[in-house]
Amino acid sequence: MRIDIITVLPGLLQGPFDHSMLKRARDRGLLEVVVHDLREYSTDTRHRQVDDYAYGGGAGMVMMIEPIDRILKVLRSQRQYDEVIYMSPDGLLLNQPLANRLSLTKNLVMLCGHYKGVDERVREHLVTMEVSIGDYVLSGGELAAAVLTDAIGRLLPGVLNDETSALSDSFQDNLLAPPVYTRPVDYNGWLVPPVLLTGDHGKIDHWRMDQSRLRTQQRRPELLQNNPDE
Ligand code: SAH
Repeated sequence: MRIDIITVLPGLLQGPFDHSMLKRARDRGLLEVVVHDLREYSTDTRHRQVDDYAYGGGAGMVMMIEPIDRILKVLRSQRQYDEVIYMSPDGLLLNQPLANRLSLTKNLVMLCGHYKGVDERVREHLVTMEVSIGDYVLSGGELAAAVLTDAIGRLLPGVLNDETSALSDSFQDNLLAPPVYTRPVDYNGWLVPPVLLTGDHGKIDHWRMDQSRLRTQQRRPELLQNNPDE
């Protein structure tokens, strides 16, 4: 899979993909992340301007359509993109089903906004999808694109060593993950639940399923309403 990220702050995206699972995905050739500096597509070669004042006045700059159109034309001439995603607080709220769905695509563009966002005509004519990572406002789309890339990248087959482990994470099957424990068995008198020490995998699976349901009921009861099994 290939992800092209368009940004005015490429420095912000140096690092997040160089560790842990995303590094492994890239080392194994399963994921390619290419970060593009939008300023290189500015029509203004001297100041490399990519934003301008808002028509109608008001505080804050707006990202211009032309540099964005230019870079998208270049990218689209090189390969076909499944989605061109604008990161936006009023986009489709990112959740596990959306990450699952996007992990099945081959080529994605993520466009990071800044300032007051992009000229509305970019949204109307140039992007195919808009994604928000939550109901709060960030100063730019870079961290949101990094979150989306992480959520997608770890799902690519071959990235997690134990391929079933993504399936047992929270939100798959609309359930939260059960609690997990490691050594020591007794820390300050705080004990690991005895069932986990029995070696009886049937019993352990049963306990984990019960804990998942209980935790979901307590913390996110609305998820159970979406679950056809419940
Ligand atoms: N004025 C805009 C916010 C602009 S924030 C509004 O009120 O809707 C600047 C940029 O940060 C946006 O263009 C977007 O790319 C990014 N951004 C901010 N919050 C985000 C969120 N919750 N999810 C995804 N991207 C976000």
